[in-house]
Amino acid sequence: MSRLLLKDVRPYGEGDPVDVLVDGEVIAEIGANLEVDADEIVHADGAVLLPGFVDLHTHLREPGREDAETVETGSSAAALGGYTAVFAMANTDPVADNAVIVEHVWRRGREVGLVDVHPVGAVTVGLKGEKLAELGTMRRSAAEVRIFSDDGHCVHDPLIMRRALEYTKSFGGVVAQHAEEPRLTVGAQAHEGANAARLGLAGWPAPAEEAIVARDCLLAGHTGGTLHICHVSTSGTADILRWWKSRETAGSVSAEVTPHHLLLTDDRLETYDPVNKVNPPLRTDADVMALREALADGTVDCVATDHAPHAAQDKDCEWAAAKPGMLGLQTALGIVVRTMVRPGLLDWRGVARVMSERPAEIAGLADQGRPVAAGEPANLVLVDPDAEWTVRGAELASLGENSPFDGMQLPGRVVATLLRGRLTAHEGKVRR
Ligand SMILES: [Zn+2]
Repeated sequence: MSRLLLKDVRPYGEGDPVDVLVDGEVIAEIGANLEVDADEIVHADGAVLLPGFVDLHTHLREPGREDAETVETGSSAAALGGYTAVFAMANTDPVADNAVIVEHVWRRGREVGLVDVHPVGAVTVGLKGEKLAELGTMRRSAAEVRIFSDDGHCVHDPLIMRRALEYTKSFGGVVAQHAEEPRLTVGAQAHEGANAARLGLAGWPAPAEEAIVARDCLLAGHTGGTLHICHVSTSGTADILRWWKSRETAGSVSAEVTPHHLLLTDDRLETYDPVNKVNPPLRTDADVMALREALADGTVDCVATDHAPHAAQDKDCEWAAAKPGMLGLQTALGIVVRTMVRPGLLDWRGVARVMSERPAEIAGLADQGRPVAAGEPANLVLVDPDAEWTVRGAELASLGENSPFDGMQLPGRVVATLLRGRLTAHEGKVRR
């Protein structure tokens, strides 16, 4: 078993620097100036040590679109972004709506070994919204699927949604909803507002999200099932969640926000660059501010990337023909630091909460999002809080290059990521 010494780290960014000895897969000892033998020493110069990040919403595109991303390239991006676990969405080709596909993705994740890859199972067969997929079979598979989502599509039929909540409840599963009432977003290209109107783009109105969120909170409350709302994008959704969570019956509803919805607005439409096309769309400044506040006060539980790589031909085209989605794994931390830490909305304990602890709890992961303490699993990320770096979309590990943050300077850099005591990324390079 190898021993790794992290020298001069600040757990949660608090107190004087200490040394952390990682022995095998666990944190063995934490203390000032440890005098111990180690196989490798990482000099951290006071960098912030946090539990490794957990992403509840990643698109790895395998199987089917290996020209956009693979489990291997996506795992590299995750490790470089500070992640130790990711949830791979089911909208692959073929769809991950059965045990064979989820076990394939799970096994590929294990073979690559850079991050724990947990497949998300589809709620309905083929993401068609008509018939429940074999949720129990996916749960009992080697992949032990716990989160189910038709992401990319909304489970819009209320009866199917009700049955999914009831059925997953029987084995402690979670239904993750892409909230979009499809009858309100036919042909939608951008947030329904002044910018879309000026450019003649069909609008995606905020109530198409909010109506589904309200409906599904009520269904979760009624069934006792567990609901997770994907990529919350409007201030109205934050209001609904705040109301719901204030009720006695709360506890079974959680929600995520993406880094891009914490920073970018539909003013980006002016560029007419499809790199800014995403679903749900970039919204208004008032929405961005409401989402930051909701994340700070716990109304929105966590940050999830909705990392969505696309091949060049699906983005370098007309706006209407472009696929929605943007890269997220390697820029998530920088955007959270810029939008939440620098303005004083979250401290580093708060970052640990929204990027690691809460997502691990929602997903039911026992070995992720754990305290930085002796005896705990060494799933960790080391962050230089003062470093500034410039995003270069083409240099990110993903096969797709569709980062809307290309050229942007971001604060907070991942120095190292450890998965069960092993360095998976260090100084911007993947460690195999
Ligand atoms: Zn989605």
